[in-house]
Amino acid sequence: MLTGVPGNQIRMAAPAPKPEPEGCRVTDPIVVEALAVRTAEGPGQVKLLPPSTVSCELARAVSLWLDTSLQPLARGAFGRELTALRVGGGHECRRRNRQTQGSFSEHATGQALDIFAFQLGDEKQGGLAVSVERPNGLEQTRFLDGVRQSACGAFMTVLGPGADAAHANHLHIDIQRRRTAASRFCQ
Ligand SMILES: [Zn+2]
Repeated sequence: MLTGVPGNQIRMAAPAPKPEPEGCRVTDPIVVEALAVRTAEGPGQVKLLPPSTVSCELARAVSLWLDTSLQPLARGAFGRELTALRVGGGHECRRRNRQTQGSFSEHATGQALDIFAFQLGDEKQGGLAVSVERPNGLEQTRFLDGVRQSACGAFMTVLGPGADAAHANHLHIDIQRRRTAASRFCQ
């Protein structure tokens, strides 16, 4: 359960203004503003900037990943807490890679999230931002490698820089079901 956990800031998504086409419906849509994580000092939270509309199922997967993998990775790499994710592409009714034809994107059903940067520490006290497109130095590059590896275990699909031109500046994660658990797609 996501609600009732201190640190989680979640609200119900407003109903769609007009009926959405088949393939663009989100099951249990919620707006995620922040997710709870455990920090060295106790309960903390990671904000989503801007707040993102996703399925409850995706929010649960992201929540678990943040708490068990990402927060420890951030602390290990920089000695700082992860405080925010700069994101885009929550729920959006569109086809893959913004083509006019073809399958609907996992974003169309709220099962995906795009991460552009990781924010560490308190911004007012000289926080650190790690950009997926332009990591600054070896430490940040290694951190992003670790992030990607852990994402490959936590989600069904992980695409990022090097996968294709559409993913040069962000990390795409989704929980789209594939035929078998072994057919995870990780680049
Ligand atoms: Zn995406």
